[in-house]
Amino acid sequence: MRVSRPSSRGRESTSSPTRSSKTETKRAQRGSMSSVRTCVGCRSRSARSQLLRVVLRQGSLEVDISASLPGRGAWIHPTAECTRLAIERRAFLRAFKTGTVDTEALSRHASTLEQGERTAPTTRKG
Ligand SMILES: [Zn+2]
Repeated sequence: MRVSRPSSRGRESTSSPTRSSKTETKRAQRGSMSSVRTCVGCRSRSARSQLLRVVLRQGSLEVDISASLPGRGAWIHPTAECTRLAIERRAFLRAFKTGTVDTEALSRHASTLEQGERTAPTTRKG
């Protein structure tokens, strides 16, 4: 008769049910802290959707409206004030770890913001 001894070593299950939920909800969820960036101008943090992405292309800044350009990007509030602050503080030099940055395109963009600045409705609480 064969006696099957209960072996102490149990089967190691390597397949643990790890749920990788990388699905990004496009709806703005309240309380979700995802995609928060720091504005290089005023150094405060805001949601990605509230910031403007700026990339460095061949030594000059380029405003990345759709936030889809490749490469390193800096984030800034799309306001004339934050743009001015960032340029004054030379924040882009630090952000892109470079010696010289041509901020003309951005300052031009900022001036259009300044002109077209209109009173935005106060943020409603959802
Ligand atoms: Zn800012």
